[in-house]
Amino acid sequence: MATSNNSRTSFTIDPQELFAAYRQAEDRQLDVIGIFHSHPAAASPSETDLQFMELNPVVWLIYSTISHECQAFILEDELKGVEVDRP
Ligand SMILES: [Zn+2]
Repeated sequence: MATSNNSRTSFTIDPQELFAAYRQAEDRQLDVIGIFHSHPAAASPSETDLQFMELNPVVWLIYSTISHECQAFILEDELKGVEVDRP
């Protein structure tokens, strides 16, 4: 769903791909509850992520390929951390 661009800390989502994912979920009567992507940096939202988070107010799960940490966030009135249970 997400594709990396040349920057090490930002990424872009193809709007058509995102639309297709939302449509697929709707067809299956599912809700999109989160968006996952990885960073070759810290597991925290980049400036670009924050912009996309405003448009997609669901949980954003970010994996750091450096620290191998996974962190989740949601942008409501402010950026909030979301606790993630590990299996
Ligand atoms: Zn990101």
